[in-house]
Amino acid sequence: MKLNIALVPGDGIGPEVMAQNVLVLNKIGEKFGHTFEYKEVDAGGIAIDKHGEPLPQNTIDVCKASDSVFLAAVGGWKWDTLPGNMRPERALLGLRGELGLYANLRPATLHEALKDACPLKPELVKDGVDIMVVRELTGGMYFGEKGRKQTDMGEAAYDVEQYSVEEVKRITKTAFEIARKRKKHVTNVDKQNVLESSRLWRSVVLEVAKDYPDVELDHLYVDNASMQLIMRPSTFDVIVTGNIFGDILSDEASQMTGSIGMLPSASLGSGSLGMYEPVHGSAPDIAGKDIANPIATILSGAMMLKYSFGLADEAKAIEDAVAKVLNDGYRTGDIMSEGMKKVGCKEMGKLIIDRI
Ligand code: NAD
Repeated sequence: MKLNIALVPGDGIGPEVMAQNVLVLNKIGEKFGHTFEYKEVDAGGIAIDKHGEPLPQNTIDVCKASDSVFLAAVGGWKWDTLPGNMRPERALLGLRGELGLYANLRPATLHEALKDACPLKPELVKDGVDIMVVRELTGGMYFGEKGRKQTDMGEAAYDVEQYSVEEVKRITKTAFEIARKRKKHVTNVDKQNVLESSRLWRSVVLEVAKDYPDVELDHLYVDNASMQLIMRPSTFDVIVTGNIFGDILSDEASQMTGSIGMLPSASLGSGSLGMYEPVHGSAPDIAGKDIANPIATILSGAMMLKYSFGLADEAKAIEDAVAKVLNDGYRTGDIMSEGMKKVGCKEMGKLIIDRI
């Protein structure tokens, strides 16, 4: 395949981890006979410095014309005092909106070699943790009507939680399709005992599920889900939920994996174009020191190959190489433990490439 990828390295450790990701993708291209062509564009703080805005039109145009978009991280202390609409992070919401990305996929996988880094008791994770949180990304109260008004109790503020049938249908389908390629189990998380929007959500999930008789479906209220994730993490496969619940639960699930430097993510829309990015930010405290963990970014590359391009074997080659490096005892500072070999960002990238 010949594929065009828009690269958005961004700020802080972004360019460092992106460089390793590109080297890994090139190795995959060489081994499996694909050509990846890259166009690098600015977003975030670097775009503010160079173009006076966090998300220049040229960046949007290049991303829209690409087969897929890869973003490392944006933001940093330098731009912290700018007003909201000029903050580097605006570029993230802007790109997701422009590209019509409504499904956020966040896997939380506990690598065998990192079991000691998991904060849960060993007996709770002895059967492994491999959870995919599928979060609705463009609806719910983050995007609903918001405002302030006077009430009997003084000034009040509101953010409306609203979901349409179509919005729930498309995210539910995404979750079921993903579950079909995994352990065929979807857990729907809502709060239908209290929220009208959740009652609609649940009814649509049940309707969509009829098209997937091969996938097991169960339901949890969000408060119970947050407990069950801690008590029996191994029993989850795919979790589908709305924007705010998914925001919280995906962070909770991610903590079982040891470090934010290990967490990839994908944002998908209705076509094959997606945006892939590590969950972490620009980590300005460690930028430029060659100590950042590039694994979250490299695993996001594997997700891109799998979900945008249908290259499952190529994705597995990356995931297996990462697992081998960890089994061989190599660690960046954030996942370091006694008796392991500490390496920097570039060295970690090279070790992974050597094992592909
Ligand atoms: P952060 O994720 O950048 O850093 C949190 C902590 O984790 C820091 O101690 C950092 O050194 C460490 N860390 C993060 N990634 C790491 C990696 N790959 N390897 C090793 N250690 C790593 O979060 P923050 O400090 O809250 O935010 C810093 C900046 O990033 C802010 O401007 C914030 O708005 C922005 N941010 C951007 C994104 C994004 O681009 N998607 C996401 C979150 C935060």
